[in-house]
Amino acid sequence: MYRADLHCHSTCSDGTYTPIELLHLAKNVGLSALCITDHDTLDAYTEETYKEAENLQIKLFMGVEFSSRYLGHNIHILGYGVTQSNSILEFCKRHVKRRKDRNLAILQKLKRLSFPIEEEELYQIGLTRVIGRPHIAQIMVEKGYVNSIQDAFDRYLGDSRCCYVIDDSFTAQETIDQIHEAHGKAFLAHPHVIRKTQIITSLLALNFDGIECYYSLLDPAQEKKWLKIAHEKNLLISGGSDFHGTVKPQIQLGCSYVDENAVEKIFNRH
Ligand code: AMP
Ligand code: ZN
Ligand code: FE
Ligand code: FE
Repeated sequence: MYRADLHCHSTCSDGTYTPIELLHLAKNVGLSALCITDHDTLDAYTEETYKEAENLQIKLFMGVEFSSRYLGHNIHILGYGVTQSNSILEFCKRHVKRRKDRNLAILQKLKRLSFPIEEEELYQIGLTRVIGRPHIAQIMVEKGYVNSIQDAFDRYLGDSRCCYVIDDSFTAQETIDQIHEAHGKAFLAHPHVIRKTQIITSLLALNFDGIECYYSLLDPAQEKKWLKIAHEKNLLISGGSDFHGTVKPQIQLGCSYVDENAVEKIFNRH
């Protein structure tokens, strides 16, 4: 059976498997196609990664998950089938810069609570990786400040918790425009995390191409709700696990997926 997991993260952002390891895992769990949607970077898409995908006969599609802001909310937007244009690569670089400032602001808040972490410690994780809150959470665990990554998010780092710093990122509209300029399709990621119905309604009035309707361990009733909305608004449908590896051990690669028909509609070029 054809199954495509169109949402997962590698070590290029906050996943724990390298792109090559993700491809092997995809093969082992019987996926036909994969899209590695790292946060704000296309670094997973090297010649080596494409070669390995070909060896393993896994169809690899290019994708990315951008953080954006919309009326004070942190909105994730998937860019599917983008090309590595200069403009999108420059956009990714600007994300790295704004993340650096944001990470520093989070570390300052933690320091005030007597949980010091030096900026250098954070970037020891990898200079080429896109660094974010899960990495800060990991260091908090290592230093004994919290019991688990989840504990760090629940008490300090999660949206609106005491050490949260709002994403001063690009607007949802700017992000959609960037994706379109790179010939990609823009999808609203995991819409169920947006709790306010008015926000979803007005967001979906933007020129999105689709909605992520199948997501991770989302229950079937929720999936049905998003499928109905996608249908009503004439939007495409995507799905994936949002696999991050050992930092989110409850989620397996391929636990959520779409079929070949959905993949055709997202990645064909007409
Ligand atoms: P950042 O890109 O720095 O804003 O971090 C976002 C990432 O942190 C998400 O993609 C998740 O992997 C993780 N994350 C966000 N909120 C939570 C939460 N409440 N619990 C666990 N992980 C979370
Ligand atoms: Zn993540
Ligand atoms: Fe996300
Ligand atoms: Fe994700």
